[in-house]
Parts: sequence; structure tokens; C-alpha cells
Amino acid sequence: MIAPVLPTYARAKVSFERGEGVRVFTPEGESYLDFGAGVAVTSCGHCHPHLVAALTEQASKIWHTSNLYQMPGQERLAQRLIDASFAETVFFTNSGAEALECSIKMARKYHAAQGHPEKYRLITFEGAFHGRTLATIAAGGQAKYLEGFGPKVEGFDQVPFGDHEALKMAIGPETAGILIEPVQGEGGIRPVPPQCLKGLRELCDAHGILLVFDEVQCGIGRTGKLFAHEWAGIAPDIMAIAKGIGGGFPLGACLATEKAAVGMTAGTHGSTFGGNPLATAVGNAVLDVVLEPGFLESVQQRALTLKQKLAGLKDTHPTIIDDIRGFGLMMGIKCKVPNTAFQAAAFDQHLMTIGAGDNVVRLLPPLVVTDADITEAVDKLDRACRALEAKAAA
Ligand SMILES: *Cc1c(COP(=O)(O)O)cnc(C)c1O
Repeated sequence: MIAPVLPTYARAKVSFERGEGVRVFTPEGESYLDFGAGVAVTSCGHCHPHLVAALTEQASKIWHTSNLYQMPGQERLAQRLIDASFAETVFFTNSGAEALECSIKMARKYHAAQGHPEKYRLITFEGAFHGRTLATIAAGGQAKYLEGFGPKVEGFDQVPFGDHEALKMAIGPETAGILIEPVQGEGGIRPVPPQCLKGLRELCDAHGILLVFDEVQCGIGRTGKLFAHEWAGIAPDIMAIAKGIGGGFPLGACLATEKAAVGMTAGTHGSTFGGNPLATAVGNAVLDVVLEPGFLESVQQRALTLKQKLAGLKDTHPTIIDDIRGFGLMMGIKCKVPNTAFQAAAFDQHLMTIGAGDNVVRLLPPLVVTDADITEAVDKLDRACRALEAKAAA
């Protein structure tokens, strides 16, 4: 008999009824250190008092009005994202995939508005993940997500990650732009080097095509800057965000320059829930935390601690850990054992992690993580590695 909830997830047999900061608690009162943050979502930790206050205060005023009316909270959040980024305009969504849908539609519409509707194709990269809608599985190009769901949505040309020649060859008269995650998340924590992001910007400018970033996972302070691409000193034309901006409340956005958004006039796109008063109250509260002076610098410091300790862990356990990747609080452990076994061993130590492609385990702690939390997490990982070594020896 089919489960009441459509069985598309392989869920662990555990639930959590309460969270506080970097910790979550089972109904039995057992505590776990959360270094997954619900896949980079609970950016401010669980039940951050400022977010709880913002949500409950808004909940007692008004929840939803639809985008048929003015929404001061939404306008405020848009203006703050604009002030803190390259963007000049923002469309709000409920998820990352929808933020990508808007980004893809906008890139196509830009060229259509210039009289070039034939320019609708986006170049994407192997290992990419952009969501689970029909267009975003086509953009991601992963066979396991496409299979059985009918013809792949047209208009995506995938090139190998880091293959500059293939990329240049892929640009043709129908190319609308390049879509890329500045740091691949699901693909296994693969950062795009800053000089390559710069190269992409130059390539797009040279061809009159748009640069579209997917910062759904790496954005909102995850790498120690508000947006990961800031490390490269360049900016995209369009960018999708989600995950961290809602801090746990479903919220995403498509940020763009005025130029890139030229075709997106009244009636061209919409969302019933997107950017509703509850969501944007929380989004504004997240920005209060993340944009507080010194916060991102403290993320950078914590990140350094984490990276150093993980490097030490790799040296201590060369038969378990192959490599440490990533930067900021977006780290990947490439395993020599199956990543699922590594994750299970960490979970036995009450440490939550997230799997990824390329046999990687992701560490994506809330941005409010402390050095003491990091020490505790790495101790747990050390014990997990020792348990795996003992198992291999037995
Ligand atoms: C999670 C993710 C998405 C999809 O977001 P959803 O909210 O699950 O639709 C898209 N791109 C990247 C890089 C992501 O990590």
C-alpha cells in the first residue's frame, strides 16, 4: 500500500520536534548538531529569536493579500536586496526552482524583446542542480532526474564543468546566456574559480548574452560574502536565490538588472504566494541578521576554523577522507568510503550532514555556528572516522 505521503523521499527514521540555534531535538529529547541546516536553509539557526518575533508579529497582522495589491514588506525586502547587490529589480517566489524558472524566462524574454526570439538557449554545466520542475531538470541535465518525465524541455546545452573550449564552442546564434552555480552544491561542492567567473562575464559581454547565476545554495552569506560571486569581483545579469533568504520559511527570488528585466512587463510572469507578507517579514529579518556589521566577517572566521580542522581530519584519516573542498560554511568532504556510510557514521555521533554527488558529504551549518560548535562537530567526525576504520579492520 502506498504511503500517505508520496514516497519520493528516502527518509531517515527520525524526526525532530524542536530546534535551537545549531541543535535539534527528537521527541525523546535526544539532541543532534545540525551541520546540514535543512540543506543550507536555516541560515540563522533554528528558532532565531529575531526571526520568531518577525514571523509571529506578522502572523497576528496579515498573512496574505496576493500580488494584486501593494506589499510594503515585499518592497522593503526588494530594496534591501538591491542595495546590497548588483540588482535593480526583484521577483519573489516560494522556492529555488521557481526563482530559476523566472531567471530562465527572463533571459529568453530579454532577447525576444530585442527582436531576437530565436535566442532562447542557455548553456549549463555538468553536475549542475537547478531544481525539480520540468525546465530546471532540463537545465540540470541529470539523467536520473529526467528519466520517465517525457521529452526534456528544449533549450539547454550542457558542457563539462571547467571545459573552457567546450563552453566557447557551445555559444551559437541561438544562445541567450550562460547559467551556472558559482559553487556547485548538489554536484559535490565544486567552486568555480574566481578567474573563471570573470572569464564567463567577459565571454557573455563579448557575445551580447546574459550571465545567470544560481546562488540558491551558495548565496545569503554562505561563503562569507552576501553572494558567492562577490569573491570574483564580477556580477551577473540575473540571479536566482532561495534557501537561506527564508531562514526556513519558503522564499526565493530572482534578482536582475534593469536591462536584463526589460521584457518582464505587467502580465508576463506571476505567482500567487510569491513574496507574501509572512515570507517577506522573515526575509527581512534574515537580512537584519546577515547584514549586521561584522556578521559576514565572523562567518569568514568560523569558516577558516572549519577548514583548518577538516584539513587536520583528512590527515588523521587518510583511508576514509579523500579530499576537503569548498569555502566559507559550504564545505565538502570527498570520501573514500561510500558517502552514505560516512553520513550514517556521523549521524551515529549525532551530527547531521547532507550527501552530494561525486561521493561528497556536505557540511552546511547555520551561519550562526560558533567555534565551539565547530570543534564539537569535528570531534564527532573524528569519532565517525574511527568507527569506520574499526569496521574496515574487522
Ligand atoms: C536547492 C537548489 C535549487 C532548487 O531549490 P528548491 O527550493 O528545492 O526548488 C536550485 N538550485 C540550487 C543550486 C539548489 O541548491
